Amino acid sequence: MKDKQVLPDVQPKKSGISRRSFLKTVTGTAAGIGISQMFNPALIQALEKGLERHPVIWIQGQGCTGCSVSLLNSVDPSIADILLKVISLQFHPTVGACEGELAMKHVYEVAREYEGRFSFAIEGAIPVAENGKYCILGEIDHKEISMMDMVQELAPMAGSVLAIGTCAAYGGIPAAKGNVTGATGVMDFFKTKNITTPVVNIPGCPPHPDWIVGSIVHLLENGIPELDYDGRPKLFFGNNIHDNCPRLDDYDEAFMAMSLSDPNGCRMDVGCKGPDTYADCYKRKWNSGMNWCVNNAVCIGCVEPGFPDAMSPFYEPAY
Ligand code: SF4
Ligand code: SF4
Repeated sequence: MKDKQVLPDVQPKKSGISRRSFLKTVTGTAAGIGISQMFNPALIQALEKGLERHPVIWIQGQGCTGCSVSLLNSVDPSIADILLKVISLQFHPTVGACEGELAMKHVYEVAREYEGRFSFAIEGAIPVAENGKYCILGEIDHKEISMMDMVQELAPMAGSVLAIGTCAAYGGIPAAKGNVTGATGVMDFFKTKNITTPVVNIPGCPPHPDWIVGSIVHLLENGIPELDYDGRPKLFFGNNIHDNCPRLDDYDEAFMAMSLSDPNGCRMDVGCKGPDTYADCYKRKWNSGMNWCVNNAVCIGCVEPGFPDAMSPFYEPAY
């Protein structure tokens, strides 16, 4: 693996909260509570005063834009705070004002200017069939640039790569049965091209905004977070949903009575994939902490490699 500098080489300036206290707060609370709660305005101010905004280039291949929409739903910090105080989003295909050849040239200029220091966010799978022709991002001097080309050219220049969403991390829905485009996840693509830039997988269909923001904050403050076997930050994907589910007592009772086909509140009988899934949805919840899948439906294992095929049919009991 290349020895790349992830962070801009900027010395922290003095702020109302010391850098040491900021780091202590970040690392001390991140595991126990959500990023949203820890990332209050005072800490954002400290971050703003202490660091250069981190350059990010965000591109999208085979995806539904749901991951971007999820990030836009970030509440605390708000997307405005993230964009204005935490990162310097140099390109985004959905929210960026710049388009066409100008935008394409800007992407390459930023990559050259911040070589080894920018984060490259990849949303959606990479189609590799037919030399990448199924996803063209733009053109420069009448030469088409495919998703495959851009990833191949820019990923080796990045300090780190964020594979945002299950499609980017593992192929996801575009790579499901009937995949004629050669849809491929980032890490698998890197292996075929000998690209060694560190990758952080942030799966989910879509990923929780805290998982995205939290991973970026960790990159800024502490470098690459500790990852699990599937390349995901343990901070968010380290625990099993079933083991922490509020319906676990119902499951245990049904298991002891050997009646899993009728497990009361547990959703095992209607296909819950919680036992095979690792994420912190049970405590983080969605829509600003209002609800989560198992509350009124089932977990379909959207953060796992092999989703959706490996989890299908969603309604089928796992026992
Ligand atoms: S609802 Fe799902 S995650 Fe919860 S106990 Fe039942 S099987 Fe496990
Ligand atoms: S509960 Fe399961 S299906 Fe729902 S978001 Fe979490 S991992 Fe995905």
